[in-house]
Formats: sequence, structure tokens, C-alpha cells
Amino acid sequence: MQRDLELLLDLQEIDDELGELERSKIYLPEMIQKLETEISGLEKEIEESKATLQNSLKEQKALELEIETDKQQLEIYQRQMRVIKTNKEYDALTAEIDAKKLDIAEKEERVLTLMSTIDECQEKSKELSSNLDEVKEGNKEQLKNLNEQSSSLQAKINDRMEKRSQLIKNIKRQVVGIYERVRKGKGGLVVVTIRKRACGGCFKQIPPQRIQEIRRGDRIFSCDSCGRILIWADENGAE
Ligand SMILES: [Zn+2]
Repeated sequence: MQRDLELLLDLQEIDDELGELERSKIYLPEMIQKLETEISGLEKEIEESKATLQNSLKEQKALELEIETDKQQLEIYQRQMRVIKTNKEYDALTAEIDAKKLDIAEKEERVLTLMSTIDECQEKSKELSSNLDEVKEGNKEQLKNLNEQSSSLQAKINDRMEKRSQLIKNIKRQVVGIYERVRKGKGGLVVVTIRKRACGGCFKQIPPQRIQEIRRGDRIFSCDSCGRILIWADENGAE
């Protein structure tokens, strides 16, 4: 029976590895996505900043052309001022001139705002680009590593599954049954060592007589309380 217990410990180890690998199946793609999102997020920010820069430059150019035309118009009005004949004409022209001046002032104000936006965008793009280079460099190794792990994952799982089915053939069906039942019900460890005269899984005290029997190891004993399979391990001791 001791042989079965040894094999059960091997089985438990394989199942723990399988559990870990199954968790990696979820965890690895999440990690990869996180690192990739970090890069694509920066790339998007750079694109947005560049688009704002282009639009601002375009608007600035258009406004400067308009201001030039407005100023020419203003000169025409001012020349007309010298040949004005009536008060009515004077008032009308003055109103035109004031409106044009206000228009120019507003456009010049807007150009100043655009110029500072352009400066900011250029500064920001530079900063983001160097930031992106850093992140790409930093994530490269990690991504390579994670992608390698991810691509070998299924092969590892298949390998453990194969080992598992080979192993199970050598353990008594009834013992495997107990193992599977507890594993399914409790999860985690099924075979536990006795610690301080108690079950290593649920800490229920075990009578000394039972400890002696387990220590002899000629049959399998389950914990009365949690059903886990109990084994004796000298290094842990029950004393
Ligand atoms: Zn127990």
C-alpha cells in the first residue's frame, strides 16, 4: 500500500502542475494583453497629438491669410476715410473699420492660442515618443518570454496529462477513486502529512492508535473530518 501512497504523491504533484498550467492559460494572455495595451495606448496618444498639431498648423495658416486680407481691406477703408463727404458716410465707414479691427484682433488672439497649442503638441510628441521607445524596450523581453511560455503551454499540459494517465494505471482504482473524490470536493491537497498529531489539511486531532496505524503504512487512512488521505512523514513528526 505504501507504493500507492508514493504514486498518489506523484499524482498530486502532476495535478498541482496541471492546475498551475491551467491558471497560466488565463493569466498569460492577460499579461501579454496588458503589455501590448501599454504600447498601443502610447501609440494612440502620439497619433492624437500629431493630429492636433496638423490641425492647429492648418488653422493657423488659414487665419494668417485671412488676417492679411482683412488688413488690406482695412487699408482700403482708411483711404476711403480721406475722401468722405457726409457725416452719414463717416459713421458707416467708422463702424466698418471698428468691426474689421475687432475681427483682426480676435483672429490674432486665436493665432496666439494655436501657437502655444503647437508648441505643447511638439513637446508632448517628443516626450511620448521617447516614452514609447522606453516602454517598447522594457516590454520586449517580457513579451518574448510570455509568448514563448504561452506557445509551449498546451504541449506542457498534454505532457502532464499523458504522465497522469500512465501513473493512474499503476494505482489501485479504489485509491484513485478516493483521491479524485477529495480533490473534486476540497480542491488543493488531497494527500497530507500528519502535523502535531493532527491532519495537515483540517488540523483535526488524530487518536494515537490511528497515528500508529498510519505510520505502519500498510493501508490507506482518510481523515475522519475532511476525508484527505493521511501519510506519515518523518521530517514533520507527530511528536
Ligand atoms: Zn482532515
